[in-house]
Amino acid sequence: MDFTVSEKMQTILGMIDEFVDKELIPLEPEFLTKPSTSLRPVFEAKRKMVKQMELWAPNHPKEYGGMELNLMEHALVSESLGRSPLGHFIFGCQAPDAGNIEILHQFGSQAQKEKYLGLLVEGKIRSCFSMTEVELPGSNPVMMDTTAVKDGDDYVINGQKWYTSSADGAEFAIVMAVTNPEAGPYLQASMIIVPTDTPGFNRVRNIPVMGHAGEDYFSHAEILYQNCRVPQTNLLGPEGHGFVIAQERLGPGRIHHCMRWIGICNRAFALMVARARDRIIAPGRKLATKQIIQSWIAECAADIQSARLMVLHAAWMIETVGKKEARKEISLIKFVVANVMQKVIDRALQVHGGLGMTDDTILAFYYRHERAARIYDGADEVHKLSVAKRILKEYENKKVR
Ligand SMILES: Cc1cc2nc3c(=O)[nH]c(=O)nc-3n(C[C@H](O)[C@H](O)[C@H](O)COP(=O)(O)OP(=O)(O)OC[C@H]3O[C@@H](n4cnc5c(N)ncnc54)[C@H](O)[C@@H]3O)c2cc1C
Repeated sequence: MDFTVSEKMQTILGMIDEFVDKELIPLEPEFLTKPSTSLRPVFEAKRKMVKQMELWAPNHPKEYGGMELNLMEHALVSESLGRSPLGHFIFGCQAPDAGNIEILHQFGSQAQKEKYLGLLVEGKIRSCFSMTEVELPGSNPVMMDTTAVKDGDDYVINGQKWYTSSADGAEFAIVMAVTNPEAGPYLQASMIIVPTDTPGFNRVRNIPVMGHAGEDYFSHAEILYQNCRVPQTNLLGPEGHGFVIAQERLGPGRIHHCMRWIGICNRAFALMVARARDRIIAPGRKLATKQIIQSWIAECAADIQSARLMVLHAAWMIETVGKKEARKEISLIKFVVANVMQKVIDRALQVHGGLGMTDDTILAFYYRHERAARIYDGADEVHKLSVAKRILKEYENKKVR
């Protein structure tokens, strides 16, 4: 593996780092204490600056106004942007829009692309992804109650979903619903575009996550679909192919998430080291002189470095041998990086003492919101099972002495 970062990417990453430091991190105190709706004009102004710098939508196709960076390149961008919770949103590459854009680009009809894709990449509208149900296990999504039944030229959708992230203010949802109940378990559900102003699309509430319901992009909604009627032309890809499409979307999406988490680790780590360096713990003694703190610094540095290399390796595998062959590596990084991030944020918070519990640093925000990394996109245990099954299969007929 070649770890050289091209000159083009060094320039891009330098510009992004500078922008995050000068334009986004200073915005965080307001972001942490005010409703994000009140910051909309500021966000818009920052997004305009990013567009003027020609750094907008780094991972999206050029024909729609993006930079079309490849997976490795965007992985590095994602790491830089992860240093602020505003990074991906201000640069136009935030989840779940990023995944939805990929789906529309790959599986959307011409009419769907014309209606949504340009506006979505441009950041003029937002979208959400509505799969997880309240009453059934998201870890086993083939257990799904939401149905889309054909009626004339339409689908009529009924069901109760939650954790539809960023539904508040979104233009449309991509909804997973059972269209083919007689088919095999992985061919029963379809993805259907549902505009959020469709009668029967009811956003019940923004769910309080660790005590914060949030709003707008920064929220997770519960949605009740009640006789929600959309034209059959809103189907994405072939009927019954919802899981096939979801699978397509997951590999590169995990690289982006994991590198964002490495960015969070880098920020928390820097805060931890700086606090240990500066905090006087006894007359003439800094916290950094304590061996236990030194041990945390060394451990976290090693954890972040190894997690980062694992993600870059998985990205390299996807690019060289393909998503299917890289499944084990993709599952490995999902739980390893989520746990490393949790540990690093926790240690950094601990080093800050009472200050760590306040919103005077970014650490408490990360502690609240990033715990979820071990649950969404497949809980730790699900990925561990999947990895172990693959390894056991590899060993099925292997002679071991
Ligand atoms: C912040 C956040 C954002 C999200 N955003 C979205 C979104 O935009 N769209 C969307 O559709 N969904 C979203 N989700 C939902 C997420 O995908 C689900 O929460 C996740 O799939 C787990 O499903 P569940 O909550 O139903 O937990 P369950 O499936 O009930 O699992 C509960 C726990 O059981 C254990 N477990 C599960 N299966 C196994 C197993 N096979 N073996 C051993 N242990 C197991 C795990 O510890 C797991 O955490 C989001 C969730 C969060 C927290």
